[in-house]
Parts: sequence; C-alpha cells; structure tokens
Amino acid sequence: MTKIVNLTPHAIVLRAPDGTEHSFLPSTVARVAVQSVPVDTYADLPVPLVESKYGEVEGLPAAQPPCPECGVRPGEERPYNNHCSRIHAEPIFYLVSRIVKDRVPERKDVLVPDALLRDGQGRVVAAMRLSL
Ligand SMILES: [Zn+2]
Repeated sequence: MTKIVNLTPHAIVLRAPDGTEHSFLPSTVARVAVQSVPVDTYADLPVPLVESKYGEVEGLPAAQPPCPECGVRPGEERPYNNHCSRIHAEPIFYLVSRIVKDRVPERKDVLVPDALLRDGQGRVVAAMRLSL
C-alpha cells in the first residue's frame, strides 16, 4: 500500500468502503505557529478579544521531488505519451489537520481525514475519506 504518515497528534483510523480499517499512529506533529494579537474593543466581552495570526507550517517534510527525466511527481498518473524509462518512487502521503492543510493548498501529498465517524460520546473513531 502507498505509504501514509500521520502528522496529527492523534491516532487515525481509515475505514475503507469494504469495512477494512487501517490504523496510523502519530509520529511527529505538523503544526502552524499561531500568534494571538490583542484587539482593542469597547464591547463588553467577558474575556479578552484577540486576532489569530497564522505563521509558517512546522514539522511537515518537503514534497517528494519530481522524476528528473519526465517531471512526473510520485503518485501522479503518467500521461499516456510518457515513455520515461525510470522507476518512479512510491508516493508518500501526509495526514494533517485542516489548519495545516490550509497553509499548503498546493501540496497534493498533504491530506486531511474527512467524513468522520463518531461514537456515542462524539469521539472520532474513523475517517471514511481523505480530503485535499
Ligand atoms: Zn519519469
């Protein structure tokens, strides 16, 4: 199977359409640095108001390089007229939170668990899809 690396802080279970489950334990965590900037307001709020400023993504490995001969990236389909002689690397996909993915929308190897199944207490037990 394609290599999948869990960069969220939680174990992730992917449930395939046939019911098969694939578990991925967390390894390192990819996160976005967030800075909370106080906002002056005259409104009578019970707690301080801040604006969240999002910085760079930390802990996300660089994308795999494209094939030096034909330019196709691992996991991308070869065009029908691609006669590249090289063996292409197996793709690696990274599971991250939505906040991380939103900082790297161009990365097709960075995915977010989606269509979440929850138990009676609202805890996530599995994801039935992955989202770009
Ligand atoms: Zn190639």
